[in-house]
Amino acid sequence: MPTAKKPRVLILGAGFGGLTAARAFGDSADVTLIDRHNFQTFLPLLYQVATAGLAADHVAHPIRGALRNRGVQFRMGSPLSVDHKNKSVKLDSSETLEFDHLVVALGSATADFGVTGVAEHALGMKSVHEAILIRAEVMRRFEDLCRFEDETIFSISVVGGGPTGVEMAGAFAELVRGPLKNDQAHAAAHMKINLIEAGPRLLPMFSPKLSERTKKDLEKLGVNVLLNTAVAEVKPRSIFIKNGEPIPSEVTIWAAGVQGEPTAGILNLPLAGTRIDTDNTLQVAHYPHIWAIGDIAGFKGKDGKFLPMVAPVAMQQGRFVAQQILRVAKGEKLKNFKYKDKGSMATIGRNKAIVEVKKFKLTGVLAWYAWLFLHLFYLLGGRNKIGTIADWTWNYITFDRGNRHIMDTL
Ligand SMILES: Cc1cc2nc3c(=O)[nH]c(=O)nc-3n(C[C@H](O)[C@H](O)[C@H](O)COP(=O)(O)OP(=O)(O)OC[C@H]3O[C@@H](n4cnc5c(N)ncnc54)[C@H](O)[C@@H]3O)c2cc1C
Repeated sequence: MPTAKKPRVLILGAGFGGLTAARAFGDSADVTLIDRHNFQTFLPLLYQVATAGLAADHVAHPIRGALRNRGVQFRMGSPLSVDHKNKSVKLDSSETLEFDHLVVALGSATADFGVTGVAEHALGMKSVHEAILIRAEVMRRFEDLCRFEDETIFSISVVGGGPTGVEMAGAFAELVRGPLKNDQAHAAAHMKINLIEAGPRLLPMFSPKLSERTKKDLEKLGVNVLLNTAVAEVKPRSIFIKNGEPIPSEVTIWAAGVQGEPTAGILNLPLAGTRIDTDNTLQVAHYPHIWAIGDIAGFKGKDGKFLPMVAPVAMQQGRFVAQQILRVAKGEKLKNFKYKDKGSMATIGRNKAIVEVKKFKLTGVLAWYAWLFLHLFYLLGGRNKIGTIADWTWNYITFDRGNRHIMDTL
């Protein structure tokens, strides 16, 4: 009996969703994965690169290494267009790849929400390159302060009180209070960390009790937490807020939100806001051979709201989309995707974290261990895990941060 032809699957984006999908097909499909980078970025630990806690290459894992012995092809490049009639994607490398199924997993990009000056005067937090830029900018200003003997204050402002903003602000405060104080106490004493949030509390996805605890923990570390403070404009050295005095800010980091990756706009697919309009099966509306997963998918949960842009959604959808495509290949009925929410966690600093799984709440050192363990577990690559354990152990024992290099210029 002739064997059924394997479906040709093209996956755009090798992040949490795309890479999980590519690895889930086994040898049941001819899979090609496409990404503009030759590495996967472990975004949850990016803030530690920006705050000198972790070497940049520990959060980047070679895609070809992750695909070794799995029969998946990789192409480095970006999609330029999709030919929907002939089912092919043109890449910026001039190559055109044909597909039976296309999975769009291009993730998200920094959203400025129309606030003037964000693109020009604030630093985003979506890539290793941006994390290295942030670290360099902060360390450069610290070197400037080391030259002054006066009372000049240098402020770092993190805009956005979600997990990324909270983790960054806490890590900056620890950098200043520890390693930078040991380097030059006068300069460190003149560095100020602001965390600016438009809403009434930090971490709105957690219970109000944990939000309050987070605020107190950050304030104990010396972070100036500003709630109900909506940014109206970012200027070169200050932040203008709605109904208030401008806030001096030498370095402004924009962690206020993300939107669907704009490349979705050139693929000629229906959009729901900035994300690709996706139905319950993960198929793109009206395009039965195109699927969207992860941050870029405009998939709505039971409550009618888009699913959160978090790694577990992308990974669960990555595994699920592979099963769906294999169902189509076998002539089976499609299933509806259901997200299993396993809870949220965030770390505030040394021995301090919060974990919330439905009604179960954990804080302090146990939550911190849970956070460390889970992040190490999901970090790809043995070398990255060993390097991360080495950096964390060094930081914990010595109270130092060995990665405070300025490496963004020659
Ligand atoms: C700073 C930060 C911290 C985070 N912390 C957490 C956390 O602690 N826990 C958590 O659950 N989630 C966290 N998230 C969210 C989580 O990382 C995302 O939800 C997850 O990465 C989404 O997976 P994805 O596959 O949709 O996109 P991604 O993992 O972002 O992958 C998208 C891929 O597409 C590629 N790509 C994009 N555009 C193009 C193009 N034009 N051409 C070619 N390739 C392209 C990118 O290079 C990337 O490899 C964090 C996000 C950020 C930014």
